[in-house]
Amino acid sequence: METPEKKPEQEPEQEREKIEVHSAWMFDCNGCGRENFIRGVRREAMQDMEGLVNLYVLYPREVACKFCTKKYETELSG
Ligand SMILES: [Zn+2]
Repeated sequence: METPEKKPEQEPEQEREKIEVHSAWMFDCNGCGRENFIRGVRREAMQDMEGLVNLYVLYPREVACKFCTKKYETELSG
């Protein structure tokens, strides 16, 4: 007896909208152990004589856990 072969159902091709990704800082809270993300502030320097653009992302000096509200001073991880 022949059974019709079933094709695995394919996901319909989805229109993909473009979304902007941005830099963020993260820390693991010592109080509750949860992961926090902080949006970075991107600064773009003006073009200088050599046409270079300096990009850097600022980080906050103080952060607070959004889950347990514990506050921290920040330092960059090595
Ligand atoms: Zn916490």
